[in-house]
Amino acid sequence: MIPFNNLSQLPAGAVSEMHEALDRVLASGHWILGGEVERFERLWAATCGAAHAVGTGNGLDAIEIALRAAGIGPGDEVITTPMTALATILAITRAEAVPVLADIDPRTALLDPESIQRCVGPRTRALIPVHLYGNAAMARKWADLADQFQLILIEDCAQAHLASLDGRSVGTFGVAGAFSFYPTKNLGALGDAGALITCDEDLADTARRLRNYGQRDRYHHEVAGLNSRLDELQAALLQVRLQHLAAENERRVSIAAQLRAGLTNPRIELLDAPTDPSAHVYHLFVIRCEERNELARHLQQRGVGALIHYPIPAHLQPPFLGIRRDPHGLAASERHAAHCLSLPCNPTLSDDDVAAILDAANAFCH
Ligand SMILES: *Cc1c(COP(=O)(O)O)cnc(C)c1O
Repeated sequence: MIPFNNLSQLPAGAVSEMHEALDRVLASGHWILGGEVERFERLWAATCGAAHAVGTGNGLDAIEIALRAAGIGPGDEVITTPMTALATILAITRAEAVPVLADIDPRTALLDPESIQRCVGPRTRALIPVHLYGNAAMARKWADLADQFQLILIEDCAQAHLASLDGRSVGTFGVAGAFSFYPTKNLGALGDAGALITCDEDLADTARRLRNYGQRDRYHHEVAGLNSRLDELQAALLQVRLQHLAAENERRVSIAAQLRAGLTNPRIELLDAPTDPSAHVYHLFVIRCEERNELARHLQQRGVGALIHYPIPAHLQPPFLGIRRDPHGLAASERHAAHCLSLPCNPTLSDDDVAAILDAANAFCH
């Protein structure tokens, strides 16, 4: 079986480095918000070219904290996409703001600027685009749009670690970028973890307070915060994983190029690749097929594990059936959800694995 993810196969050298990190934390007697978290935050901010990083418990919290630290709250409308992990929408409602869904451009599955414009109203305060599947191709266009309509831009970078456009990292196009280090992400912890990055010192300070009950000093609470602290162990392990991230992303990009070049089945439709090759870090390699479910079954029988991201767009999930949306509807998202399929594209795949994926996909006829 060619697995979709293969988390037990770590890069060469990483296992012993992770054992050392674990020993270091064990010996320190300090488990929450200490030197390891500070070191990881400095490293992550520098890696992304941001002034500050603030570790959080997970990616959902990083988005919520970014919104709240940016002053978004009750009654404020925040535009985002229905084609995302539901966490993006949940972060907006948890910040007590009102999500509004714009449609995607079918060529990339990324938020469509024209649909975003149709969603802007008098209460619109922020835009949270998602660099879906690892593709940062639209970062500049979304930032320009946010400028034009005076919206606060917060990028959901949970799938796009180290993706950059014209030399600029995701998460630095707006006031803040939110990352998840969920184990399957390009940079993954051994449990839940997240962070936000920003160049705004006040926003970083507020975020640091919000993640820790809203306290500035111990037992002095300035705002009603939450508990979303990154722990020392995950921060120490993430420092190790970070050393391998660029190479792992490179492998993903190379696998994606092989898949793109080798898929010849006319039933399979590719998404557009960005013109800047650094803009896509292929968290997922997604194709479309009219007979998607049959293709998934066919691949399964041939030993290829494929998954769907995402089968149900946010506005068709029970808690969000009445959610505000583009007045023209969200037809492109619905069509994409019905036909998209993610082929394995993780850095542990060998060239033989990639050839086997291509053989299986190209042999599909229905
Ligand atoms: C994974 C993910 C999140 C949420 O991250 P968690 O760490 O699971 O909370 C948010 N947005 C997107 C696009 C994601 O892929």
